[in-house]
Amino acid sequence: MARIVMKFGGTSVGDIARIKNVARKVKVEVERGNQVAVTVSAMSGVTNQLVEYCTQVAPLHDAREYDTVVATGEQVTSGLLAIALQELGVNARSWQGWQIPVITDDAHGKARIMEIKGAELIRRMEQGEVPVVAGFQGVGPDNRTATLGRGGSDTTAVALAAALKADRCDIYTDVDGVYTTDPRIVKSAKKLEKVTYEEMLEMASLGTKVLQTRSVEMAMKHRVRVQVLSSFSEAPGTLVCDEDEIVEKELVSGIAYSRDEAKITLVSVSDQPGVAAGIFGPLADANINVDMIVQNVSQDGTTDITFTVGKADLGRALKVIKDKLHVPYKTIRSDKNVVKVSVIGVGMRSHAGVAQTMFKTLADKGINIQVISTSEIKVSVLIAEDYTELAVRALHTAYGLDAA
Ligand code: ADP
Ligand code: ASP
Ligand code: MG
Repeated sequence: MARIVMKFGGTSVGDIARIKNVARKVKVEVERGNQVAVTVSAMSGVTNQLVEYCTQVAPLHDAREYDTVVATGEQVTSGLLAIALQELGVNARSWQGWQIPVITDDAHGKARIMEIKGAELIRRMEQGEVPVVAGFQGVGPDNRTATLGRGGSDTTAVALAAALKADRCDIYTDVDGVYTTDPRIVKSAKKLEKVTYEEMLEMASLGTKVLQTRSVEMAMKHRVRVQVLSSFSEAPGTLVCDEDEIVEKELVSGIAYSRDEAKITLVSVSDQPGVAAGIFGPLADANINVDMIVQNVSQDGTTDITFTVGKADLGRALKVIKDKLHVPYKTIRSDKNVVKVSVIGVGMRSHAGVAQTMFKTLADKGINIQVISTSEIKVSVLIAEDYTELAVRALHTAYGLDAA
C-alpha cells in the first residue's frame, strides 16, 4: 500500500467525459489498495475566461476580488470529480482551500503556501475516503481565498503530498512526461525518463510550463517524488528526483523558451557608482522582477543599460522609470517582441564549450543575440521572438537531443 497524491490539469478535466475518465483512473489506484488524495485544476480555458471577466470590469482590479473570481474554476471541478467518483462507488469528498485549510501568505493573486493542516485528510484517507482538493487556492491571513499564481495547482499537489507524507505525487497532464523541449514545437523532442530537481527547477523557471516553478521548489525542499504523466495514455512518465538516482547524465538535458519577456534599454546613463542601485531600486520597490541585465563599458563617461522584465510588467516598469528615477539618461527604448531561449544541463558544470555551441548555432541561422546570461547549469539568450521555433529546433539538433 502506498499513499499517493494525483493531480489532474485543465485538459484532463476539460469536459464531463474527461472528468469521468479521471474518476476511473483514481478508482484504479484505490482498488490497488492505495490511499489516494486528488487535486484538480479548473476545466481548460476557464481560468483565462475568469481573468478576462475581471479585466473587463476594471483593467486594474482589486487582487482579493480577482482571487474570489478565479478560484471558482477549481471549486466546480472538485465537486464534479467527487460526484463522478461517488457514481463509481468510491467514497469521495471535495475540499476547498479554506476548508482544509491550505494557509497562504497575503500576496493575493500569487500567494505562497505557508502550511497545509493535513491531519483531518489523513484521518479520512485512513478510513478509505478520497479527498478531492480544489487546486490553485488557499486562505490568506485576512481569512479570504487566495490563489497561487497561474499553474498553481501543481504547487497544491506537491504541498499536499508533503503535508500528507505521501509516497509520491503524480502530475497528470496532456503530455506523457517532461521532454527535452516543448513537444508541441519540436516533434523530435525526447521524453526524459528522469530529470533532477535542479534541472527541472531551471527548466520551469525558464519557461517550461509543464510544472509551476514553485511546485518544483517545494518538491526539492521536501524531497517529494514527483512523476509527470499523461491522463490520456498508460505510457510511463518522467520522474523528478535527486541527481544520484540518475546514472547517465547528459551534458544538456533540455531547452526552454519564454515569450514572457520584454526588453528595456536606458541610453546614455552616466557610468559611476550608485547608478545600478538608482535604477533597480525603484523597480524592486514597485515589485517588478528584473531578469537579465547587461551594461556596456563606457566610452565618454556614459553607458547603456539593457534589462528584461516580464511582459505583463512592461507598462508599469516604464512608468516607474519615467516617474521615479533620479538617475539621468538620454532616452528609453523598449521591445516586447523578444523571447528568452535557454539551454539547461547539470553536465555543464564539468564541461566547457556549451555556450559556444549555442552562439555558433544561432549565428549559423543568422539569429542575433541581444542579451546573454549564464548560471552554473544554464545559458540563456534573448533573441527576436520571430525566431523562437527556428532557434529551439536548431539548438535541439545541435546538442544531439533529437529522437532517433
Ligand atoms: P496542465 O493543464 O495539465 O497543467 P500545462 O498546459 O500547464 O498542463 O502543461 C503541459 C504543457 O506543457 C504541454 O501541453 C506542453 O505543450 C508544455 N511543455 C512545454 N515544455 C515542455 C517540456 N519540455 N516537456 C513537456 N511539456 C512541455
Ligand atoms: N487553473 C489555474 C490556471 O489555469 C491553475 C492551474 O491550472 O494549475 O492557472
Ligand atoms: Mg499547468
